Amino acid sequence: MADSEWSELLKKSWRSASDLANFTLTEGERAFFAQGGEEDRLQFLVNPYYASLAEDTPEDPIRRQFIPLVDEYTIGECELTDPLGETSFSPVPRLIHRYRDRVLLLVTDSCAMYCRHCFRRSFAGHEGSTVSPQEMKQVAAYLAEHREVNEILLSGGDPLTCNDAKLEAILKTIREVRPHMAIRLATRIPVVLPQRITPRLVEILQKNGPLWVVTQFNHRRELTAKSEEAAARLIDRGIPVLNQSVLLRGVNDSVPALEELFQALVRLRIKPYYLFQGDLAAGTSHLRVPLEKGREIMKELRTRISGLALPVYAVDMPGGGGKIPLTEDYAVGEDEKNYYFRNIEGEEYAYPRES
Ligand SMILES: *Cc1c(COP(=O)(O)O)cnc(C)c1O
Repeated sequence: MADSEWSELLKKSWRSASDLANFTLTEGERAFFAQGGEEDRLQFLVNPYYASLAEDTPEDPIRRQFIPLVDEYTIGECELTDPLGETSFSPVPRLIHRYRDRVLLLVTDSCAMYCRHCFRRSFAGHEGSTVSPQEMKQVAAYLAEHREVNEILLSGGDPLTCNDAKLEAILKTIREVRPHMAIRLATRIPVVLPQRITPRLVEILQKNGPLWVVTQFNHRRELTAKSEEAAARLIDRGIPVLNQSVLLRGVNDSVPALEELFQALVRLRIKPYYLFQGDLAAGTSHLRVPLEKGREIMKELRTRISGLALPVYAVDMPGGGGKIPLTEDYAVGEDEKNYYFRNIEGEEYAYPRES
């Protein structure tokens, strides 16, 4: 019963401008659909649940995440097809080994909606390509050989668009070679299709632990009763949930918007983990926030919210440089006796070298 709810919602997904009949489309939105044609651009797709969270105003923070703008056809000078340089770190198909102790698996290119800020937009949404049993064998062989790898990230696309049987098969293959390895499931499903978090799914995930879920709430209004229930189902069964937000222009690029979001997440027992600076993905410049503005927002947030509510602001460097935390520097200097730091009120304090 519950299982059919999410697949029914997916089947009713909207794929063309005519599905947006309840929205008064702006010129920029209409122009996106009018251009059409380009097969390799990120398609339009949203399910009726996520769309129902949006209001019919052009500035709506939910709407900006799923209704495309013609601006997506404008490719900035610094923008790249593979902004993170991931292809150069792929030892076997679908596997990205960028950091010594963890690998990332591109489970599928399907999603429950296509986020307009997607940085894997040249991979996502080509539809129908999910890791095959043969590819999983190669992944398993790699994990068996590379004992330095302690953690596998299941990403995509959205791995939770796979059905239970497929997902269970993937998890089992990993568990056969590495019974205790941490599995991190990167998914926007708790946000965009929380109905997918069924008791049966949670049971599969729990059985194949240790497993962490990392999701992506970008705005307070995405935290509905349904998504709250989905998060609680996971957390109550011992599956921790973390959140990675993306800093997005016109969605969450203000102190009050992020303050509300992060505090609401903590109330739901979801730990804000990262706030990402927008990657240099082709056609996303209208959604990016200047890095300096991000730093200012974070500086102000640190004076307002708890350490539990505060994520690490980070940027993934173009060209394969990896993640770099954009933390504020509190050190102000040192001498033979002391190190000097600035506290939250901006006052200077000393900590002795030899204590
Ligand atoms: C982000 C990322 C990870 C995980 O990094 P953490 O800092 O541990 O969250 C691993 N592999 C790749 C390729 C990544 O992009």
